Amino acid sequence: MSSTLSFEVFPPNTQVGTEKLITTLEELQQLAPDFISVTCSNNRQTIEETTLRVADYIHTELQVPTIAHLPAAYLDQAQVQRLVTRLDQIGIHQILALRGDIIPELPPKQDFTYASDLIDYVKQQAPHFHISGACYPETHPESQNRIEDVKNLRRKVAGGCDQLITQLFFDNELFYQFQESCDLADIKVPILAGIMPIVNRKQALRLIKTTNTKLPRKFLAILEKYEHDPIALKEAGLAYAIDQIIDLATQDVAGIHLYTMNNAEVAKHIYYNTKNVLKGQIEVR
Ligand code: FAD
Repeated sequence: MSSTLSFEVFPPNTQVGTEKLITTLEELQQLAPDFISVTCSNNRQTIEETTLRVADYIHTELQVPTIAHLPAAYLDQAQVQRLVTRLDQIGIHQILALRGDIIPELPPKQDFTYASDLIDYVKQQAPHFHISGACYPETHPESQNRIEDVKNLRRKVAGGCDQLITQLFFDNELFYQFQESCDLADIKVPILAGIMPIVNRKQALRLIKTTNTKLPRKFLAILEKYEHDPIALKEAGLAYAIDQIIDLATQDVAGIHLYTMNNAEVAKHIYYNTKNVLKGQIEVR
C-alpha cells in the first residue's frame, strides 16, 4: 500500500519572505506532492491577503492540489461564507477546518465554538468541499483525556470531515495507539501523520519550550549532543524524521504531512530518502 506525501507552508510576513516562498513552492512542485496546505493565523484579519493569496498561487500557477487552513473561532458565518465562495471561485475545494487557538485576552466570536461547527456549516454551504480536520495523537491540551478527545473527533467525522491530519509527534508508538483509539471509535477516515524534521537549534529550543509533545530519549540525545554543531544537528534531525517516516510507511500509514517550515531543501532531502518507501515503487534502471 502506498502512502501520500503532502507539505505544509505558511504565508510569510515580509516581501522578502514572499519572494523566497515562491522559489520554495516551485521546488516543492517538482516533488509532485499529493497536496500543499497553507496555514492561517487566526488573529489576522486579512485571510484573503495571506492564506488565500498563497493558496491561489499554488493552485492556479503551480497546479498543485491545495488545502487552505481555516481557523474559525474569530470569524462569523458571513465571513466564512465569503471565504468559501472565494475559494470556490479560485477552484480550491479543500479546507482544513479548524477552531484555532483561543487568544487569552481576545474573546472568540460565537458562530464556531468548535471545528465541528465549522465542518457542519461548510458541508451545508458547499457540500462539494473536501474537508480535513486536525487531530492530536497526544490529546489536545484542553481535553481531559483521550476518550473525550476522540469522542469529539468522532463528531467532526460524523459532520463530514473526510480526512484527519495529526499534530506533529516524535514517538510513533503514540501515533499507533491513537490510530487504534480512532479505530475503536469507528473513525474510519484516513489519518495523515504530521512530521516536523528538526534541523536547527532555535527550532528545537522553541519546540521544547512550547510543546507538550513527548520527546523520546533518542530525540533528546540528538539535541543535547549536537546542540552546538549545526551541521551535525541538521543531519541527525533529518535522519530522525526519515526513520519515523520509514517506520510509519512500513506500517501502512495513510499519508505523511510534512511541516516544511517553508524550507524546500529539507522537503527535498526527506522526499529523496523516502519516496520509494512511500510510493512502494521500484525504480528500474
Ligand atoms: P477542535 O476540534 O474544536 O477542538 C478543540 C478542543 O475542544 C479539543 O480539546 C476538543 O476535544 C474539544 N472539543 C471539540 N469539539 C467539542 C465539543 N463538541 N464539545 C466539547 N469539546 C469539544 N491553528 C491555526 O491557528 N492556524 C493553522 O493554520 C493551524 N493549522 C493546524 C494544522 C494541524 C494539522 C493541526 C493539528 C493544528 C493546526 N492548528 C492551526 C492548531 C489548532 O488550531 C489548535 O490546536 C486549536 O487549539 C484547536 O483547533 P481544532 O480545530 O483542533 O479544535
